[in-house]
Amino acid sequence: MRQSELFTKTRKEAPKDEVSLNAQLLIKGGFIHKEMAGVYSYLPLGLRVLNKIIGVIREEMNAIGGQEVFLSSLQSKALWEKTDRWNDEKVDNWFKTKLNNDTELGLGFTHEEPLTAILTEHISSYRDLPKYIYQIQTKFRNEARAKSGVMRAREFLMKDLYSFSKSEEERKEFYDIVADAYHKIFSRVGIGEKTYMTFASGGVFSKYSHEFQTECEAGEDIIYVDEKKNIAVNKEVLTDEVLSDLGLKKDELVEKKAVEVGNIFNLGARFSESLGLTFKDEKGESRPVIMGSYGIGPGRLLGTVVESLSDDKGIIWPELIAPFQAHILFIGDSLDVRKEAERVVNELEKKGVEVLYDDRDVSAGEKFADSDLIGIPIRILISEKTLLQKKAELKSRKTNEIKLVDIESVLSKDLDVLLKL
Ligand code: ATP
Ligand code: MG
Repeated sequence: MRQSELFTKTRKEAPKDEVSLNAQLLIKGGFIHKEMAGVYSYLPLGLRVLNKIIGVIREEMNAIGGQEVFLSSLQSKALWEKTDRWNDEKVDNWFKTKLNNDTELGLGFTHEEPLTAILTEHISSYRDLPKYIYQIQTKFRNEARAKSGVMRAREFLMKDLYSFSKSEEERKEFYDIVADAYHKIFSRVGIGEKTYMTFASGGVFSKYSHEFQTECEAGEDIIYVDEKKNIAVNKEVLTDEVLSDLGLKKDELVEKKAVEVGNIFNLGARFSESLGLTFKDEKGESRPVIMGSYGIGPGRLLGTVVESLSDDKGIIWPELIAPFQAHILFIGDSLDVRKEAERVVNELEKKGVEVLYDDRDVSAGEKFADSDLIGIPIRILISEKTLLQKKAELKSRKTNEIKLVDIESVLSKDLDVLLKL
């Protein structure tokens, strides 16, 4: 991708009303556009990152047997009345709208109801179970406070997975499999070390649910971490009883601010009973399907990465989700230098490397500042000085380390090798 062709431009200042660091950096870098409080559009750079995050999540969901669907956002009032979740006193974040004939509709804030209803048409026997069904789809929530940028949006993507099992044991088995998959996802996108499986309130069906909380100054939650055991307890459930239940000691826990990037829940028969999702067991007896739900917010994850991995110059993307793998810059007016930069771009692209090429006629200072702001892991610079030695200057965005490397060896090595040179 030639930077001169990218329609987005970087900007020096974020909108004055934008208080969150993640949205400030993402807007300055041209990754997103702020439509209004809590509502953001993804632009080419932002969409590339978002799609990479989604790709990781999708791979891990497919690996544990998830089947992907895409449910509608428009939701029927009658369906949600059956589970008593239509009433605004029960659910305080609905966005509702109306057809021309005044029929009320809702914009889905979660999808237990419609998916459970769909499954009543497909599940009837113990032979049909278990099933694991997920989607990556837009949710609408009239969030009271939307001050955390893309981490708390009013329109946002969620990966929501639902499990449908014959028994509580079968549900629990899958729950543990999802927990492992979640650990994999958070490590692959680069926040594994800062993310803790956290005991949280379980609602009516279980003693606990589990949140995946990432240490982050901008987080809205407080967690207490046992760093040796690598688990945490949400402040909301921290009592002496819970501590003894989990075998934790208060004075061995470290308090941290954190953001919930994912969670996993036991739903028991709450939705299957209200909506008539039953199956015939081996003895021919009718029983409700036992459900679980498992969420991750790809946009919140993206915002969390920005919050926890940026510095005063800009974003520092982890390699796997960076919008591009290498940022190629040249400085000076020499035609030879530009030609050599273009050759490097073409050769790397031929090898399948995703390259952003700064071919703009702007000052070196501007190129460097934008490169730091956009945060691609490796910057490859060619100047008259480096070209004289047939070398390029490599800079790691993460460590700021700079090295002069033979251009031919840049072209012959894998990028992750170059990062470690
Ligand atoms: P929170 O307590 O932060 O409001 P929640 O308990 O409402 O989260 P869920 O309904 O379980 O969250 O949603 C599943 C996942 O979707 C969350 O773990 C989070 O990653 C993401 N998510 C929830 N609300 C938002 C939001 N407003 N903006 C972006 N992502 C969100
Ligand atoms: Mg919420």
